[in-house]
Amino acid sequence: MRVLRSVVNGIVVNASAGPSRVVCSPVDGSPAFTVQDASRDDVHRSVLAARSAFEGGGDWGRRSTGAHRRDMLWELSSLMLKERSALAEQEAVSGKPVTDALADVDASVECFRFFAGLADKLHGRTFAAGASHRSYTLREPVGVCGLITPFNYPLLLASWKLAPALAAGNACIVKPAPQTPSSTLTLAALARRAGAPAGALDVLLGGSDIGAWLAAHPDVDKLSFTGSTAAGARVASLLASGDNAGDAAAAAQHAGGPRPATLELGGKNSVLVCADADLDAACTHVVDAGFSNMGQNCCAGSRLLLHRSIHDRFLDMVLERVKTLKVGDPMDPSTRIGPLVDEAALSRVLGFIERAKRDGAKVLVGGKRVQSKGYFVEPTIVTNVADDSEIAMEEIFGPIVTVLAPFDDIQEAVLRANQTRYGLAAGIFARDTTSTEYAISNLKTGFVWVNNYNDCPPFLSLGGRKASGYGYEMGMEALDEFTKKKSVHILLQ
Ligand code: NAD
Repeated sequence: MRVLRSVVNGIVVNASAGPSRVVCSPVDGSPAFTVQDASRDDVHRSVLAARSAFEGGGDWGRRSTGAHRRDMLWELSSLMLKERSALAEQEAVSGKPVTDALADVDASVECFRFFAGLADKLHGRTFAAGASHRSYTLREPVGVCGLITPFNYPLLLASWKLAPALAAGNACIVKPAPQTPSSTLTLAALARRAGAPAGALDVLLGGSDIGAWLAAHPDVDKLSFTGSTAAGARVASLLASGDNAGDAAAAAQHAGGPRPATLELGGKNSVLVCADADLDAACTHVVDAGFSNMGQNCCAGSRLLLHRSIHDRFLDMVLERVKTLKVGDPMDPSTRIGPLVDEAALSRVLGFIERAKRDGAKVLVGGKRVQSKGYFVEPTIVTNVADDSEIAMEEIFGPIVTVLAPFDDIQEAVLRANQTRYGLAAGIFARDTTSTEYAISNLKTGFVWVNNYNDCPPFLSLGGRKASGYGYEMGMEALDEFTKKKSVHILLQ
């Protein structure tokens, strides 16, 4: 069986590292690969290597040129395209349908190309300070960045963090999710081939312990975390407490102070379909919003609000479409629904359905585990629930869409859409621009899709509000997350 190991200072580390564990295929529960987790010492050595790559006199970090980083990132994106099928197959091991995985590789390539184009255009501002002064700002990389990613889009979310972080000249350490390390390791190997020096991009394998050691390490200048709201809250408190991980010298540099973080957390996202929407087109997007990646999507449109006048007709259309979604082997290009990532995810999702049924919810389609082997759940539509019921308020991370009671006007729909603790994304389907504008202005989310859903071009930032976190991925805003400003004020002699 393949054994996956961490990359420390650009080198795959061998058996001196932490304990091994087996990751099983979600298709049938059979052993898929072994992972040797990083040790605490690996974390420390990786941070030292990143510091040295950043501060050293080599061709990375503070002294590198934007043109050099641009060329490296572009070369990396080209190597990724050459490895497109291999990367997609690695993503599909987690149960993601291979067609979706290929799309994720393409989106990751686009992300690297977008930030490659910005790497040599980072600049500060100059000010008209009069004849006596020169005043300007410098834009500098943050330094050593810890990047922690979740299991649901391993390659894409690593790319969303790495592309802007590397474009700005930072040294990065990625800690992928314990279930899905493969594509991140391949990405790091390709980055080395593209010219990233040792220490510019390490990968530490393991679970929450390794993530916490990385987050708490005093010589990590910035942490960018994507994951659940619960884990994000733990990471935020680690960053605030300034645990020195036993390294007094490094701790002294930061004086135990809090460090900057980007937290991209959970979501419970509402989709509104108005009376005048193009229902055929909306149906396609609504099904994709709810069921792509088996609903294991922070932006999953899992809370559906339909205008009373089209409620029954549109729901029938959606039910018909959902029945056609092919459930099965993620490696089959026609599969739309693969298994959930692991057994824990399966029981969690089935638990939501059972509790909702107990409370009187009606399952219109699906609702059951598909087969005894593997972690498949039928695409499920549930209705007859209160807006504030568990299934309508909590992030399920499975193929379940909850249809709430019909709405009568856009004000009511937006009010009800905003009634969760999350604030990541929302969608509205309508032709009337007044309704659309009202929704855009009043939805308390970081992203609003109008007449489409799930598309995340790299020039638009994605960032949560409320319990969905803070900070941004992608867009020009992502470069702000990975750079600092320094003000310079010179009195001319
Ligand atoms: P998770 O929170 O269990 O784990 C995410 C990552 O954090 C993993 O690498 C994990 O090992 C690590 N981790 C967990 N606890 C930690 C701790 N205390 N300290 C440091 N690291 C820790 O999430 P998951 O199940 O992998 O992913 C699903 C979650 O991610 C969902 O809630 C989803 O909404 C969220 N997500 C958010 C976005 C976004 O952009 N907002 C994107 C994708 C996923």
